[in-house]
Amino acid sequence: MPATFTHQFDTPLYKGTSSFNTGLFIDGKFVDGSNKTTIDVFNPTTGKLLTSVSEGTEKDVDLAVEAAQKAFETVWGLNTPGAQRGELLWKIAQALEKHAEELAALESLDNGKTFTWALNVDVKGTIDAFKYFAGWADKIHGKTIETNETKLAYTRNEPIGVVGQIIPWNFPLLMWSWKIAPALATGNTIVMKCSEFTPLSALRATAILHEAGVPNGVLNLVTGYGNTVGAAISSHMKIDKVAFTGSTLVGRKIMEAAAKSNLKNVTLELGGKSPNIIFNDADLDQAVKWASHGIFFNHGQTCTAGSRIFVQSGIYDKFLQNFTQAAKSIKIGSPFEQGIDQGPQVSQIQFDRIMGYIDSGKADGATVHLGGERHGSEGYFINPTIFTDTKPDMKIVQEEIFGPVAVVVKFDDPADAIKQANNTSYGLASAIFTQNLNLAIETAHKLQAGTAWINCVNHVDVQIPFGGYKQSGIGREGGEYALANYTNVKAVHVNLGYKI
Ligand code: NAD
Repeated sequence: MPATFTHQFDTPLYKGTSSFNTGLFIDGKFVDGSNKTTIDVFNPTTGKLLTSVSEGTEKDVDLAVEAAQKAFETVWGLNTPGAQRGELLWKIAQALEKHAEELAALESLDNGKTFTWALNVDVKGTIDAFKYFAGWADKIHGKTIETNETKLAYTRNEPIGVVGQIIPWNFPLLMWSWKIAPALATGNTIVMKCSEFTPLSALRATAILHEAGVPNGVLNLVTGYGNTVGAAISSHMKIDKVAFTGSTLVGRKIMEAAAKSNLKNVTLELGGKSPNIIFNDADLDQAVKWASHGIFFNHGQTCTAGSRIFVQSGIYDKFLQNFTQAAKSIKIGSPFEQGIDQGPQVSQIQFDRIMGYIDSGKADGATVHLGGERHGSEGYFINPTIFTDTKPDMKIVQEEIFGPVAVVVKFDDPADAIKQANNTSYGLASAIFTQNLNLAIETAHKLQAGTAWINCVNHVDVQIPFGGYKQSGIGREGGEYALANYTNVKAVHVNLGYKI
C-alpha cells in the first residue's frame, strides 16, 4: 500500500491539515510503483526532507496507458457527450475551489512560492482553466464544406485518444491544469507525469478530481523521473500525442523520442529569455514596477520572465536607479509569512545553476550592480540580482537562468532595441513600455515572440493563446487554440449522386 503524507500547517497565513496518498494514480486507484521505490521530496525553504512519493517505471507507464486506453474506448472519448464532459469540468472547478487554500499551501511548501501568489495565481488560474474549458466542451464543432452539388463534406474534431503530458516544477498545479482541462474537454484520456521536484499538489488535486467524478482510467498520474517515466511516455507506441512543458533541452529529447517511436503528435512549451523594452516616453513608475514583476515574480522561475531589460538612453540612469530600489525593496523569507514577496528557489540543483550563471557573468566581465549572492544561511534563497555592462554574446544574456537575475542594457533607437531583443534563440514572450501607441504596436509586430505585452508583463489569461516562436516551442495553449492540440480533424465526404 502506498504511503499517506499528512502535514499540519500552522503558519501565519494558513492553518490546516492536508493528508493524501503518495502513490501512483492508475485506473482510479493509488498504487505502489512496480519497483516499490520512492523519490525524496524536499522543502526548499529549509532544504530538509519533506516526504517521499512513489517512483514510477516504464512498466507503470504501460499499466497507465492500458487503463487510459480502456477508459477512452468505454467511458470517455466518443462515449461521453461534450455537454456531460463540460458539466464534469465545472464540478471539478468547484471541488478545487473548496480546497483552494490547502492546494496553495501545498504549492508553497513544495515549490517555495509565496502562499499569497500560490492562491491568487496558481490555484485561481487552475480553477479558471477548468471553468474556461468546461465552456468549450460542447462547442467543439466541425465545418461543412461546399465543393459541388453532388457532395456534402463536413469535418469532425475528434479526440486524439491517449495523450501523454509532462510538466515542470515552476507552476506545478497551473501547468497540470493547463494540460488536463483542454484534454478532458476534448474527450482524451491522460497519462500525466509531474515534476519529480514538486509532486504534492498534483497528487492532491488528482484525488480531488477522482472524488469529483472523473471515471477510472481517464486521468492517470505516474510520478517519476524524466529519463524513465518521461522517456517512456514520449516513446510509447500506444500514446498518440505528447504535450510537454519544460526546458528546450528536454523538449528536443521528447520530439526525438516521438519521431523514433510512433511519430506521435507533439506540442512543446519551452524556455525563454524574454526582452522587456522600455522607451524614453514610458510611464517610468509603472515601467519599473512591471519590469520588477517581470523578472522577480516567482523568484525568476517563470518561462516568460523579462530577464533582458533594454532601456532607452534618455531614461537609462533614472530607470536603473528606480529599478534597483524596487529590487532592494523585495522582501525575502518564508512563503507563509505575511508581506513576503520572494521565497526560495525550488531546489539545490536550481540554486547551484543560478549561482553558476552569476559566476559566469562575473567571469565574463559584466558588473554585478545589485545582489549576486545567497540570502540567509538555510534553504535555497538568492538575492535579486541585476547585471549591467553586459555584451550580447555573454551566457547571462543568451541563456535562460531561471532565477532572480536581470540584465539591464542601454539602447539608442527603436531599431537597435528590436535587433537586440530578437538576438536570441528563444521566442516566448516580450514586453514594450511606451505611451506612443504607434511605436508600441510597430515594435510588438516586429518582435519574434509568441506574446507581446504592451505596458505590462507576465500577464497571462487562459482565454488567450500562449506559446513560443523559434526554440520556445510548438503549438499554443490557452484559448480556442488549445483545442487544436487535442483533436484530430476527420473529413467526411458524402456522395449525393455523383455516378461513375
Ligand atoms: P525540465 O525540462 O528539466 O523538466 C520538465 C519535465 O520533463 C519534468 O517533469 C522532467 O522530469 C521531465 N523530463 C526530464 N527529462 C526527460 C526526458 N528525457 N524525457 C521526458 N521527460 C523528461 O524543466 P524544468 O526544470 O522542470 O522546468 C523549467 C523549464 O520549463 C524552463 O526552461 C521553463 O522556461 C520551462 N517552462 C516553460 C513554460 C512554457 O509554457 N513555455 C512554462 C513553464 C516552464
